[in-house]
Amino acid sequence: MNKDFTVKFWGVRGSYPTPGADTVKYGGNTSCVEVNAGGRTIILDAGTGIIPLGRELAKKQNLEMLILFSHLHHDHTQGFPFFVPAYMPKTKLHIYGPGGTAETVKHVLEHNQSSDTFPVSLRDMAANKDIQSLRETQVILWGDDGVKVVESSPSPSPEAVVIRIYKSHAHPGGVYHYRITYQGKSIVYATDTEGYVGMDRKLINFARDADVLIHDAQYSDDHYYGCLAGFPSTQGYGHSTATMAGQVAASAETGQLILFHHDPSYADDLVAAQESAAKNIFPDSRAAFERMCIDITPRPFSS
Ligand SMILES: [Zn+2]
Ligand SMILES: [Zn+2]
Repeated sequence: MNKDFTVKFWGVRGSYPTPGADTVKYGGNTSCVEVNAGGRTIILDAGTGIIPLGRELAKKQNLEMLILFSHLHHDHTQGFPFFVPAYMPKTKLHIYGPGGTAETVKHVLEHNQSSDTFPVSLRDMAANKDIQSLRETQVILWGDDGVKVVESSPSPSPEAVVIRIYKSHAHPGGVYHYRITYQGKSIVYATDTEGYVGMDRKLINFARDADVLIHDAQYSDDHYYGCLAGFPSTQGYGHSTATMAGQVAASAETGQLILFHHDPSYADDLVAAQESAAKNIFPDSRAAFERMCIDITPRPFSS
């Protein structure tokens, strides 16, 4: 059985897509990350990065996929109406995210594709869709018997993918962060979060010892504090600086830190500067770019 555990970035930008000559190096699509764990496909957010990912996935038949929304802001959902596998009748899609009721995710997706705003309704996308809003206390398991949402801390089989949730209030409306564990390795996806004074201690605990931490790093310190010419302070907007991301990674003693949700007004040189700022605090830091791949498959020791 394939035991690979990999991450691939398809959209790394926050707020709105930014095509153009200034964003070629890191890319201009909004948030979408593909995780593969033992042949199972988990998609984190459906910004416009999910559109090229969907074209790749559509080359296969009988797909089963799990899409997890961090939250339902536009830059995390806007690619979904163009996700080709959702139009394929043999696709099984589990679509989970936050919400005040079990129906919230479904209602938002339906609204995004109402007849006034989009030509195809959610119902007319042919895939078999299991859409749910989850509570923070629930755990997602994907084992040999399929995808299940359970209520309590399980002791799953080592072959299962286990996904836990931390609900953060450090973004307007709240946001879910996800920790995906497979074969003893973990990836934490913590986008759209603003660092607290003294850092988010719950996030530090949630991300402790993760192999990969994907963390919001939208702003430079100058921008955040209102010292960047032409830009107001962004304090309170619900996004972090590269410095904040580096501090969380250092405190949580994670493996590599991937800076994510780049500001749409930042050209490639500014995103590169973000990477340098994070490295000053946490040396194993990189700024995410489109098609970047990370392989954390556990390998047996060889002599
Ligand atoms: Zn966002
Ligand atoms: Zn947001």
